[in-house]
Amino acid sequence: MIFNIQRFSTHDGDGIRTLIFYKGCPLRCQWCSNPESHSFGYSIMYDQTLCKRFGDCTLAEPAAFELNDGKGVDIRRREVNQPLNLKDVCASKALVLTGDDLSVDDLMTEIEKDVPFYKDDGGVTLSGGEPLSQDQDLILLLKRLKERKISTSMETSLHVSWARIERCIGMVGTFLVDLKHTDKEKFRHYILGDAGLVMRNLEKLAYFGAKVVVRIPVIPGFNHSLPEIQQMVDKVSTISGIEEIHFLPYHTFGVEKYKMLGMEYEFGTDKQVHESELELYVQYAQSRGFRTKIGG
Ligand code: SF4
Repeated sequence: MIFNIQRFSTHDGDGIRTLIFYKGCPLRCQWCSNPESHSFGYSIMYDQTLCKRFGDCTLAEPAAFELNDGKGVDIRRREVNQPLNLKDVCASKALVLTGDDLSVDDLMTEIEKDVPFYKDDGGVTLSGGEPLSQDQDLILLLKRLKERKISTSMETSLHVSWARIERCIGMVGTFLVDLKHTDKEKFRHYILGDAGLVMRNLEKLAYFGAKVVVRIPVIPGFNHSLPEIQQMVDKVSTISGIEEIHFLPYHTFGVEKYKMLGMEYEFGTDKQVHESELELYVQYAQSRGFRTKIGG
């Protein structure tokens, strides 16, 4: 299931790209800007500021929606029986069902519309959520893209079993690997994951000759300090075959989505990171022999 197709992107890979965002992620980064990607199923997003209280949602799923005394509706998401009952039900667009169960054929049809714009270096970037958490359809799509000679990049945290990664080697042109931290305690506390699993997978991926670009999201209060960034860069420098590190400054573009999903934004800062704050990190990575870039 996917939650967005973004066309004509000049981020997240070379050239002009089509970004396909899959639903489902094994991690829970507290600062995640795509919280609608966490679940593998449909998500219900509700913006009370747009709600005109027409009440069609209460007719479509009476157990889950109730007009309240205020300016909108109360939602009990667990009581939704058939999420698809809610698709396009809201005339004021306050309620949006996120998620599209597109087949591989459907995705290829969407991609084909953009192919004339790819020129020499553009293509498709698979993102999420975590694309490597997807099952067989991901492999079928990668095969179709390879047959069609469309360049493919994949944004991934590598926080999956090695078997899930191995099946994609040879079909993904560039793995854009989010390396969030190498400190096990911080990784567990802020992300609910295992830093060791990511590093082991990163080493294997490089060992098997895949093209890897490491991307470090720079997050205040988590890894935004020279010693921590140095530690991460040093770890990456022990892996032969990785030549490029990108630094991605923290932003808060996704914060409003949490409210719309009925979720808490638990990461306690709204201070964005400016690109100029990354200069020392860039210099350090370059001093260790890496090509660098700021941004995706
Ligand atoms: S790995 Fe990405 S999609 Fe998953 S929780 Fe972290 S930031 Fe969000």
